[in-house]
Amino acid sequence: MKNIAILGSTGSIGTQTLDVVENNQEELKVVALAAGTSVAKMEEQIRKYHPLIAGMWTQEAAKDLQERVRDLSVKIVCGLEGLLEIAQMPQADIVVTAIVGMIGIRPTIAAIKAGKDIALANKETLVTAGHIIMPLARECGVSILPVDSEHSAIFQSLNGEPKDKVSKILLTASGGPFRGRTREQLKNIQVEDALRHPNWAMGRKITIDSSTLVNKGLEVMEAKWLFDVDLDRIQVVVHPQSVIHSMVEYVDGAIIAQLGTPDMRLPIQYALFYPDRRTLLGKRVDFFELGQLTFEKPDPETFTGLKLAYQAARAGGSMPTVFNAANEKVVGLFLDRKLAYLQIPELIQAAMEQHKVIQNPSVEEILQTEAAVYEFIERKVSL
Ligand code: NDP
Repeated sequence: MKNIAILGSTGSIGTQTLDVVENNQEELKVVALAAGTSVAKMEEQIRKYHPLIAGMWTQEAAKDLQERVRDLSVKIVCGLEGLLEIAQMPQADIVVTAIVGMIGIRPTIAAIKAGKDIALANKETLVTAGHIIMPLARECGVSILPVDSEHSAIFQSLNGEPKDKVSKILLTASGGPFRGRTREQLKNIQVEDALRHPNWAMGRKITIDSSTLVNKGLEVMEAKWLFDVDLDRIQVVVHPQSVIHSMVEYVDGAIIAQLGTPDMRLPIQYALFYPDRRTLLGKRVDFFELGQLTFEKPDPETFTGLKLAYQAARAGGSMPTVFNAANEKVVGLFLDRKLAYLQIPELIQAAMEQHKVIQNPSVEEILQTEAAVYEFIERKVSL
């Protein structure tokens, strides 16, 4: 039996992780759940999966939850302290990090220090603190298992192959809902338009990030840390059908890819059972139905999010934090209808331009940088 703790259990990845648990009840057991403020969903999950401990972000939500589950013996915790308690709990073997945003940094570090394997969906953590997390994981002898579909595909394509024979990573991208459009055509994009992803049903933030190609930029940085490859050997390939989830090219020219239907349960399940494969029922790729797979170059002049991500990654140090924090802030403002769509990359760029890079930042410096970027954006927007 493998005991799992899920941080972000009420979200898109969290609920799909619970689907995987449900399909494998003899082998997976939920020992902890954590979410932000979705109390009703959390109550439902507690009654169904019987965790030992459950956490809510706000005190109000935790109090409400405590009232609702008074008849059960589950321990309710709250805030960052609660997340840290869950991340380190002795009963968990693996922690699924499915929280959205940089809030995942401290719990991920705590879980690694406590010797837990990590099934990592929360890419923002690696983007901003990869230089801390990857060496720490090696030192503590824990595995960081990718949940992101592209990174899982790369991981599967690397399986059993010597790493020094890799010549490049081909990171596929659907291109998002606005693929092929000009900058002019992006001017009047509304929240509803950007939330309509052609292939994947995901949380709101990552869906917006996919439309701006910021998500692909974050994934480039995530791949750099996960697979220890330099940026020049990570190539983004637009593949609108999202059937090839990513590929690895080797020194002899062979390319190994992982293909499948767009179903996040596959990479989640692969991470939870690695190195085993388990049956997963669902739609299969039918090549005759598909007809063709197509490929394009990304357009970084229209989708400047990708270009800015490469700039941030090349600058290194605290710059990826600036890129990520600015994006988290402006996407939140866009979702609240306080910004125009094209202000997303413009404000990320402005935040990056005013920042003086800190080399090798500590967790405190990363979080201070995040706060400074938030302040900068707030000032800019209120001007
Ligand atoms: P969602 O917005 O759907 O879910 C986020 C989850 O995190 C919810 O359970 C939310 O709780 C919880 N949460 C938010 N803030 C806090 C907090 N402060 N403390 C505790 N819990 C919190 O996001 P996704 O599932 O789409 O994405 C999660 C992560 O996975 C992101 O980093 C994303 O980039 C990555 N990812 C997602 C993919 C997808 O297909 N969705 C694919 C690949 C990567 P509440 O419901 O209460 O708000």
